[in-house]
Amino acid sequence: MKTSELLSIINQHVPFASAESWDNVGLLIGDTNQEVNGILTALDCTFDVVDEAIEKNINTIIAHHPLIFKGVKNINEGGYGTIIRRLIQNNIQLIALHTNLDVYQYGVNAMLSKRIGIKNAEILEPQTESYYKVQVFIPEENVVEFKDKMNDQGFASEGDYEYCFFSTKGDGQFKPVDGANPHIGQLNEIETVEEVKVEFMIQNNERAKAEYFINALHPYETPVYDFIPLTKSLNRGLGMIGDLPEQTTLKALASAIKTQLDIPSVRFTGNPNALISKAAVIGGSGIGYEQYAHQKGADVFITGDIKHHDALDAEIDGYHLIDINHYSEYVMRDGLKALLEQWLEGKVDNIEASHLNTDPFNYV
Ligand code: ZN
Ligand code: ZN
Repeated sequence: MKTSELLSIINQHVPFASAESWDNVGLLIGDTNQEVNGILTALDCTFDVVDEAIEKNINTIIAHHPLIFKGVKNINEGGYGTIIRRLIQNNIQLIALHTNLDVYQYGVNAMLSKRIGIKNAEILEPQTESYYKVQVFIPEENVVEFKDKMNDQGFASEGDYEYCFFSTKGDGQFKPVDGANPHIGQLNEIETVEEVKVEFMIQNNERAKAEYFINALHPYETPVYDFIPLTKSLNRGLGMIGDLPEQTTLKALASAIKTQLDIPSVRFTGNPNALISKAAVIGGSGIGYEQYAHQKGADVFITGDIKHHDALDAEIDGYHLIDINHYSEYVMRDGLKALLEQWLEGKVDNIEASHLNTDPFNYV
């Protein structure tokens, strides 16, 4: 499989456009024409991970954290340059799936909540998409042609369905007055016409084009139409929230999570004996969402990278926090391997998860 095909399949599941605007995802190093002979999944693309790919004769690394992130001034020996040079010298490609994998419904947060044993997990903060409902009032005799032509222009489609219209009949009235050049009716007389209200959805960026075609296709001098702005929830977004298998104390939960995630340290804020039945989780650095999680009914907010003052604020506000370290996102290595096996359906034979420890912290 060529890298271009791999990127296109990945994009169908975890669209690169769904990443945060500040992020850097996609093919960071490589060539879209290159054949992919294997994939190594990793949390961080460290020097050792590159060596692992070389040893395993795998030419494509997919990492969660983008190696190239801030402005790169040079690619010399030393620092990240050493890793980038080693990748290029060995013709190894690097793909980053970062916040687009975080917000995916089966992504990093789903992997973490599954490991923690959260049941009935839902997306904590579903992303929304804005769109327009369009309604056009048009004489009955023009309806079929109008719908056909709007459909041909690519409007009124929803997923795998085209020609998604809804119509209702009604009486339209108007009185052409001096200066008008009416399609039907007499000057200065009220005309009643059986009209149809045709409704359909368009994407936000289609508005100008839709307006142009409505005016072009409508028989009236002054067509009547509305664009009603709406939003809908998507099945992707940050974090997961759900129920614990059974109610437990905060301390017992923190201890269980340490085992389930196999991490060397877990910290928590709040009364150790507080009873917890609903938990929200955001992998990596999720601080800022603790209040939102609390409002959505979570008894505890689980994330990494919690600073002293965040913890103190939470304690004062009465929110329970569990810090699972940013590195707990390592669960994405096996999780992404399983997803890639599903998505690629055998088109790449050699898909492996790195098991090297890339946690920059040591624990005593
Ligand atoms: Zn993440
Ligand atoms: Zn992260």
